[in-house]
Amino acid sequence: MDTLTIGDTEKLADALRGDLITPAHPRYDQVRKVWNGDINRHPPLIARCADAADVAAAVTFAAERGLPIAVRGGGHSVSGQGLCDDGLVVDLSRMRAVEVDPRRRLAHVQGGALWQDVDPVTQAHRMATTGGIVSETGVGGLTLGGGIGHLMRRCGLTVDNLVEADLVTADGRCVTVDATTDPELLWGLRGGGGNFGTVVRFGLRLHEVGPTVLAGMLIYPLDDALSVLPHYRDLIADAPDVLGTILNLRLCPPVSAVPERLHGSPIVAINVCWSGDIEEGQAFLRPLRAFGRPLLDTVAPMPYVDLQRMVDGTSRPGKHYYWRSVDFGPLTDQVITTLVEHASRITSPMSAVPVYHLGGAVGRVPAEDTAFGSRHASHNINMFGAWEPDQDDRDRHVAWVRDFSEAMAPHSVGQYVNFLNDEGTDSVRAAYGRRWRRLVALKRRVDPQNLFRYNFNIDPEWP
Ligand code: FAD
Repeated sequence: MDTLTIGDTEKLADALRGDLITPAHPRYDQVRKVWNGDINRHPPLIARCADAADVAAAVTFAAERGLPIAVRGGGHSVSGQGLCDDGLVVDLSRMRAVEVDPRRRLAHVQGGALWQDVDPVTQAHRMATTGGIVSETGVGGLTLGGGIGHLMRRCGLTVDNLVEADLVTADGRCVTVDATTDPELLWGLRGGGGNFGTVVRFGLRLHEVGPTVLAGMLIYPLDDALSVLPHYRDLIADAPDVLGTILNLRLCPPVSAVPERLHGSPIVAINVCWSGDIEEGQAFLRPLRAFGRPLLDTVAPMPYVDLQRMVDGTSRPGKHYYWRSVDFGPLTDQVITTLVEHASRITSPMSAVPVYHLGGAVGRVPAEDTAFGSRHASHNINMFGAWEPDQDDRDRHVAWVRDFSEAMAPHSVGQYVNFLNDEGTDSVRAAYGRRWRRLVALKRRVDPQNLFRYNFNIDPEWP
């Protein structure tokens, strides 16, 4: 990186409608924070962009000086990719506008929006697209890496609904990418992460959803998991696409939705979203809800927007986080035993083990149609370690996550890039599988200097 002069910095500040934040700024420490409190980086320049022209000016500034760029969307990546120590942060947190074109069934979403900005606006039209299950997660990173959520079995991954993107490329141009203008680049944006530029506006296809869905959670003691999980497995084997379910093995979180007497006890929760006809959903879910001795059953008709905030309180910004993840096939007896064994050794009341049921529309998209790597898996597990900032036992939590993921490795059939962490380049390459060479060729075309490198990087120099 060339040395920056005061004149350089002033030039960038003058070019922006938004703000340029440097270490001398009184709000620097606030602005450089990301969701994971375990990340502590000190970028020399943070451009808080107000619009696409600001993004283009910031990217051009960095390109002219050989400064690498970190793009901050929602700031939710656990490895803190929206921040760097040695380059320019293009911070999109001021760019969160959402508009719906009901005639085209399209949502136009600015690159720094969170899912909490999107769902209420699309639901005003009784529409939605697949989004993350925590409303504070960014649309940017989630979409570009894949996008799994409650609606995916019916509506596909978020990338399957990405039909256009306004992209600021490494040469500072803002281009609209769609299936006509540049089909190869659209293919790369559908799973290739932030490698190809900064998306200032996403065009996401919408589906008729809600406003009411049948949703909620069933909570069982973890001690009952060895009987509940095989029953759950058999039920989801024949589930229609309108049923999305996510298991969660953890200590019961101290949130108001759950009675205090359960707080802290080991549980397995089944989170349910039925986005089809409510009565059909009641009938389909009856055998699941009648089984065993649930400690709590909150499944009921509820607004889709409420479902999209249902677990928000369980993972707060500023705590320290570390995660691993594995895509795997069916919930065999052996997998269930491994899940229960490792979940029962969980090290913190804030840690969790969500297990997403994939399949449905996710598996029907041909593997080569998008850059997303792992279509054929039927489940994804995310071992999510969390602890308080003032705790000094990071190693204990990290070891639990790593042991758990190593125990699941024999069952692995792939890897979701957005749930990667610090595994390194070989894991990124493995996650993309046979799409890797095509991605490298695309990266060489649109970002040969690897300006956009703070992501699960596709290195243009790869042999
Ligand atoms: P950032 O840290 O801002 O960015 C992550 C990466 O994306 C960076 O490389 C960044 O450069 C790039 N990026 C972000 N925005 C843009 C943009 N506009 N243009 C170009 N590049 C961009 N994933 C799911 O699929 N489903 C879930 O339900 C889900 N739930 C989650 C819940 C929690 C609590 C957390 C922490 C994560 C969850 N994730 C989920 C994972 C999530 O998809 C990734 O962490 C994702 O990277 C977050 O995107 P972001 O924009 O918030 O992150």
